[in-house]
Amino acid sequence: MDFRLTEEQQMIRDAALKFGARWTDKAESLRQHTLTKGEVPKEYWQEFCENGFMGALIPEQYGGSGLGLTAMTLILEAVSSHNLANALMMLTAMDALCILKAGPEPLRQRYLPKICAGEIKLAFAITEPDAGSNAFRMRTVARREGDKLILNGSKTFITAVDVVERVLVVARSMRYEELKAQGLPKVYGFNLLLVDPKAPGFTMQEMPTEGIEGFRQWTLFFDNVEVPLDELIGQEHQGAMAMFNVLNAERTLAAALSLGESEWLLKRSVEYAKQRVVFGDKPIGAYQAIQHPLAEIRAELEAARLVTYKAATLFDQNANPQQIVPFANMAKLLSGELGIKAADRAIQTHGGNGFSREFGLIQAWVNARLVRTAPISKEMILNFIGEHVLGLPRSY
Ligand SMILES: Cc1cc2nc3c(=O)[nH]c(=O)nc-3n(C[C@H](O)[C@H](O)[C@H](O)COP(=O)(O)OP(=O)(O)OC[C@H]3O[C@@H](n4cnc5c(N)ncnc54)[C@H](O)[C@@H]3O)c2cc1C
Repeated sequence: MDFRLTEEQQMIRDAALKFGARWTDKAESLRQHTLTKGEVPKEYWQEFCENGFMGALIPEQYGGSGLGLTAMTLILEAVSSHNLANALMMLTAMDALCILKAGPEPLRQRYLPKICAGEIKLAFAITEPDAGSNAFRMRTVARREGDKLILNGSKTFITAVDVVERVLVVARSMRYEELKAQGLPKVYGFNLLLVDPKAPGFTMQEMPTEGIEGFRQWTLFFDNVEVPLDELIGQEHQGAMAMFNVLNAERTLAAALSLGESEWLLKRSVEYAKQRVVFGDKPIGAYQAIQHPLAEIRAELEAARLVTYKAATLFDQNANPQQIVPFANMAKLLSGELGIKAADRAIQTHGGNGFSREFGLIQAWVNARLVRTAPISKEMILNFIGEHVLGLPRSY
């Protein structure tokens, strides 16, 4: 596979790097603004969208550029390499992709242009307290009643609900027991719906998590929330199928954020290692104990980037989703683990300063560490590779 970027892809990456360079000095104040004021700084999000970044995955007819997942990957990687890793960009992009792929057409027309223009941001809610890694155990139900869907249940660990206009909720369209009684397949019986967080019956409670990338996490409660039927994504009962390929994009974009963050951490480490002198007149970067781990990160970054671009390229080539999953999973695994290593080495290279909030490295470690757990855990990815790539028996 040829990984040379097209001229268009290079241009969009350069534009994203320039955008990142313009905002990098404000990275911490952007995060604090969101955490304290419960809103994403408008000027920042607007500029991101005006550059056409949010529309990279969306075709021109809906206000985007239709450049594809490789372009979106390059954008998030570039922005993140300026310490601006942002889960909301990834979540909004993957939700938009879901609307684009599954429709229906009026929903595409209603949402996609506004997403491109920065008027609508989206959260994603699948995790439940008693289901976790096994989404098939979820109990939240969005059942059709006439021209409405009635939503009942709860979601947990949902990022950024306080700053978005809609939440894409994954719910059951019928209870698991009914599905089983009717002999229907496990993937049947899910609905995807766009829910207004201000709808009556929708309440939320902040979770005491460490703020990742400046966003809060929420437990959501749905008590007979009425959602108009035209907010249903795709076909009734077929939500799981509509989600399947979109999760490949989510994993690839999560990998892109980790790659960018590793790049930023490595740059910080190298700069510090060049100027910090503690013995004689040689900087600490001359010591192999400091230098070699950084060299290793450089090499691993290049490798993880290739796997990530491969997943994105396969997606853009409309490869069979089954063909993409291994690479999307491997991309997220390798890039996510690299992010943790890069954060740890950056802290070690900085000595005590690694723990000073002023340097931002300890906060970066929290961001990087999250990727081992979410959006899918390292163990579940290894389970997939073991079972579906190596052909070994399933352990659970
Ligand atoms: C900061 C943060 C933000 C998040 N944002 C969102 C969001 O926006 N939307 C959303 O829907 N969710 C979100 N999540 C939830 C996240 O996706 C889940 O936490 C994650 O998928 C793991 O699920 P769990 O916490 O229920 O862990 P569990 O499923 O309870 O797993 C616990 C541990 O057991 C391991 N384990 C479980 N099953 C197996 C198995 N079969 N084999 C081997 N090991 C196994 C897991 O890997 C994990 O290490 C977020 C989580 C965090 C912490």
